[in-house]
Amino acid sequence: MSRSDALPIRQELRGKSPYGAPQLDVPVRLNTNENPYPLPAELVERIAERVRDAARGLNRYPDRDATELRAALARYLTGTGGHPVAPDGVWAANGSNEVLQQLLQAFGGPGRSAMGFEPSYSMHALIARGTGTEWISGPRTDDFAIDRDAALAAIAERRPDVVFVCSPNNPTGTAVEADTVVALYDAAQAAKPSMVVVDEAYVEFSHRPSLLPLLEGRPHLVISRTMSKAFGAAGLRLGYLAADPAVVDAVQLVRLPYHLSAVNQATALAALEYTDTLLKYVELLKGERDRLVAELLAAGHRVSTSDANFVQFGRFDDAHAVWQALLDRGVLVRDNGVPGWLRVTVGTPAENDAFLEAVRGLTKEI
Ligand code: PMP
Repeated sequence: MSRSDALPIRQELRGKSPYGAPQLDVPVRLNTNENPYPLPAELVERIAERVRDAARGLNRYPDRDATELRAALARYLTGTGGHPVAPDGVWAANGSNEVLQQLLQAFGGPGRSAMGFEPSYSMHALIARGTGTEWISGPRTDDFAIDRDAALAAIAERRPDVVFVCSPNNPTGTAVEADTVVALYDAAQAAKPSMVVVDEAYVEFSHRPSLLPLLEGRPHLVISRTMSKAFGAAGLRLGYLAADPAVVDAVQLVRLPYHLSAVNQATALAALEYTDTLLKYVELLKGERDRLVAELLAAGHRVSTSDANFVQFGRFDDAHAVWQALLDRGVLVRDNGVPGWLRVTVGTPAENDAFLEAVRGLTKEI
């Protein structure tokens, strides 16, 4: 029993644990899909400059509509996503978790439901719970692809108000094909209609292009993004979405006023000025990701296809025991509770070498 259970807390929160990837102080931390490269020194200077300017106005509330930042994000999406995005079709918040929460506040809630295809990003279900939205776990195949026919049938039967598609999927790593998303979207429209949220937190690392062009003609589709991964700015807390401007109007009904601090906005704007530099680190990480996949396969492990900055590997009779054995060797990976599998975040070449050496030292069960 947790201490909060003694309080008159909402029934559905009783006995539950908070989201909690361990934050342990070990030499090689490869468990939360962070970018291992610190921001370059020039960018740190530019952030300091922009934040100094913002600090002069901290007696005032920040720009509630984050106008300059949304315009910069729209330019980034238009330049990289293969689809023109206007600032009024972009919304930003404190990490994409907050974006997702705002979406569920607007489109989910008591008496409504959300569906995701598990295993997937566990916060989708947790944010559903936090917003009083019923959670429906949709089907995947044994190799972790979305089981398309079963998924279409589940949507038709359960008629969720929100459908989550995570592409590339966390923790399995694999991107979803555009025609699958279109099929899910069409099924969701026929059933309700409902909102379809594609979580593209890792898309910059993908072998496949972004699903942004699917926004054309699909007013109930939302693409969620973050600066936590590709921009190497997990500590910044800046997530955003692209969608029909009506969706942006809808989330504005639930966002807290002045939710995005002037310091956050200034920092994100500085980082966006360095997009080209930061995307070079993404290229390095993609190469390291492909090396990890190849070396894990060569060591006799099974690996899910990865379009992300992490790799799911297995299979182990006792994944948690392997997680502990790696930790004992100073390497922290993630046990997401997917039976038989673990997930490792792509680190620097030296960190990846340390991980591979630790893995080779294990007795494995394939
Ligand atoms: N979506 C997915 C799939 C994630 O893995 C994460 C972070 N682990 C997030 C969203 C949230 O990221 P943030 O709130 O840092 O933007």
